Amino acid sequence: MQHAENVTFGASTLDRAAHLRKSADKLAKQGSATTIVLWRGKPLMETNPAKLVRIPLNHPILKSSEANIFLGLGSGDPIFAHDISDWEPDSDQETDTVSFFDETAQWHPDAPKDTAFQEIRAVMALLSRDDAELVAAAKGIFGWHSSHGFCAKCGAATIVAEAGWQRNCPICKAAHFPRTDPVVIMLIIHGNKVLLGRSPGWPDKMYSLLAGFMEPGETVEAAVRREVMEESAISVGKVGYMTSQPWPFPSSLMIGCWGLAISSDITLDTNELEDALWLSKEDIIEGLCGNSHNIVPARKGSIAQFLIENWVKDSIS
Ligand SMILES: [Zn+2]
Repeated sequence: MQHAENVTFGASTLDRAAHLRKSADKLAKQGSATTIVLWRGKPLMETNPAKLVRIPLNHPILKSSEANIFLGLGSGDPIFAHDISDWEPDSDQETDTVSFFDETAQWHPDAPKDTAFQEIRAVMALLSRDDAELVAAAKGIFGWHSSHGFCAKCGAATIVAEAGWQRNCPICKAAHFPRTDPVVIMLIIHGNKVLLGRSPGWPDKMYSLLAGFMEPGETVEAAVRREVMEESAISVGKVGYMTSQPWPFPSSLMIGCWGLAISSDITLDTNELEDALWLSKEDIIEGLCGNSHNIVPARKGSIAQFLIENWVKDSIS
């Protein structure tokens, strides 16, 4: 099964039109050009029903925009993204910058009616496939700009180029590109059971597949075996690739794999995991149906839930 197009953020329908990036200023003046708006990583959404807001580039909410990206062409029309993170909500609006899941929403006085900035995790399963791709790209690049303002070679402040897709150093002339960090996430199977774990700080009772960052010089298969061994002391034999998912929290590419366990005794790495356990297919079905008192499954829209559901349906290959 290699179904990346069916995973949230996996649409790949956007024409990124890289050859037009140097002409972005001209494209922005086209009457058909629209933009999406992000504030501190949260997209501006219609609230009922949930839908990504696209506005013209002369909209008043953009007056405080500090940066924009030419995302590409959608049905032939230019699509941009604007970051208005400098905007400060009124003091009576609640904000949350520390929780794993930000449940607050913010209302901008210049925004279209019935819209708000919302946490992507809260709306990702509700977005259309095309809109999810726009949000993933915009959040990933704005996040990269916010943490890569200086040259990694000489330390000088860098300059945005290529309509937001590059930063250039004016001193040593190095070019810097948005980074993507590969992460393996694996469905580890032992007979009729699958290995799930939970990290400290996760929502109560939430369990998911084990995952970890790949390291330099490592294959995907080796990363799967190493991460599972490190976190749970389970040995993994055969490994296969299933699907992938862009995951802009902040800049990951999730590489979804399966692996066959050749041992089953769990020894936890408590620095990484709070708990790990084997669950049968019947236990997983209970959890997915919301009938389990002990387990809350991975969030809808996540690759973990996608992989688990396909395992339950016997469509893993
Ligand atoms: Zn430099």
